Amino acid sequence: MLTLRKRVLIIGGGPGGRFSYMTLRRMGEKSLSIVMNEDPTVICSLPYGVGRKLVPGGPEEEVVDLANSDRLPPEIVEDAIRGVVTELDAENHIARGTSTEGPFEIHFEKVLLAPGAVPWLPSVKGLLSDKEGYMRDLTEIMVGSEYVSKEKLAENIFVMRGADDARALDAFAEKSDQAVVVGSGAIGLEVVEALHDRGLAVTLVEALPHLIAAMDMDMAGKVSERLSEWGVSIYKNIQLTEVRSDRVVLSDGTEIKTDGVVFATGVRPNVKLARSAELSIERGIVVNEKMQSSHPDIYVVGDAAQISDAVTGRHILPLIGTLAMRQGLVASANIMGKEMFLPPATVWGLSAIFDLHWGSVGWTEELANTLGIQVFSITLPYHTREKAMVNGKEGLWKVVVSASDEKGLKKGQIIGFQVVIDGESPLFLTERFIDIITRRETVSGLFSHYFVHSPYHNTVEDPYLMLLFAAQEAMAH
Ligand SMILES: Cc1cc2nc3c(=O)[nH]c(=O)nc-3n(C[C@H](O)[C@H](O)[C@H](O)COP(=O)(O)OP(=O)(O)OC[C@H]3O[C@@H](n4cnc5c(N)ncnc54)[C@H](O)[C@@H]3O)c2cc1C
Repeated sequence: MLTLRKRVLIIGGGPGGRFSYMTLRRMGEKSLSIVMNEDPTVICSLPYGVGRKLVPGGPEEEVVDLANSDRLPPEIVEDAIRGVVTELDAENHIARGTSTEGPFEIHFEKVLLAPGAVPWLPSVKGLLSDKEGYMRDLTEIMVGSEYVSKEKLAENIFVMRGADDARALDAFAEKSDQAVVVGSGAIGLEVVEALHDRGLAVTLVEALPHLIAAMDMDMAGKVSERLSEWGVSIYKNIQLTEVRSDRVVLSDGTEIKTDGVVFATGVRPNVKLARSAELSIERGIVVNEKMQSSHPDIYVVGDAAQISDAVTGRHILPLIGTLAMRQGLVASANIMGKEMFLPPATVWGLSAIFDLHWGSVGWTEELANTLGIQVFSITLPYHTREKAMVNGKEGLWKVVVSASDEKGLKKGQIIGFQVVIDGESPLFLTERFIDIITRRETVSGLFSHYFVHSPYHNTVEDPYLMLLFAAQEAMAH
């Protein structure tokens, strides 16, 4: 058995774990191990590897070669253990597991836990099989409330989380004519486009009444229209109940012929090890603003960690890669004895489908209504250039505003942002609204946000003032 003694052990080789490794090394930590149970990848780009349009070399191009990375310190080759930690003995500061070389035991002073999230699938008929599946990595999924080894997935069923998932979907795309994608969040839609680009006829199935839960019906409707224009069949407000070898069955009995099914039905924080270490767990692993768990020597970053929403104070699971990396910096600094706190955060996302770009930050009007938060919303047109200029693009943006001083919110506080623009990136507006929303700004604060005008890049209309005027008018009524 391999026995190591390290000051810091990182568990998980996703963005949270790798960024933490990089930061700890930069801060001078030399006694480090990082255990990773699958090929490290640029996870967010995996659907584009399958689609081939943006990554012609396929998903293999997204795999990070640790020995030749221009982002990671070279010492990672020595410090990485390819394996899985199966037990975290917090009391004795020992992690046990198995690697490609056999069992190991690592004695540590501090642990940085970055186990991420596992794909969640509804427990429908035909999901699992006794035959060995495609996985060679040691990763898992969650079916209903049970963790299941990913290799148990039936041959024609796929998820999209790691390198092996993308490889399997890539091979499926090569030999198939039709596919069903279940779930219409960013990942589901990116997979729809990828398979469409590979020439498959794609059907999208969504249990909710409209696509993209992160947007309201009026905004998400634009995305639906775009998918239909590109020939994607959409079934909404209906559930998939069974997968057979050549078709799926929906809850109303509809049968759709298909060669395979991709489940993009969400993820759940991976809390397996946290349980073995008896850490406090609610929606995810509970951490404070230093990313420290209920055990003072165990820090948690990324998709497994539950944080407080800057808007409502509720516990949220943001599931955002860039946030996992920021959390890695915070945890690493605290491990190195430099006190640091995670800046206020919320939920955000940005993606594009068939060149229709969409983004959202914070709370939708629908979700606010469900939570009993009194809101009003303002929707404004978005033109990327003056009418007299060629190549201008059109879009819509929507802002959700608190209508009262209840539930810890201020009247006029901006709590949500959504945008849909045809053919152009709304990145800058989305990032600005992350700041506005996480800093709990009200509409009157919009006056302090300047905009840059340049005819090549935007119209002369000041978006922040337009929103301020519209909001003042709405609040006056
Ligand atoms: C297809 C796709 C597209 C995305 N696009 C975006 C995007 O555009 N922008 C964005 O910000 N975010 C995006 N995300 C979300 C982002 O990828 C996640 O938020 C991010 O990966 C979380 O990082 P993490 O390190 O917490 O977890 P993960 O990336 O899940 O990594 C955790 C790793 O730890 C491993 N692990 C778990 N338990 C153990 C154990 N016991 N021993 C060893 N290893 C273990 C897991 O198998 C996994 O490899 C996307 C996600 C997907 C799947």
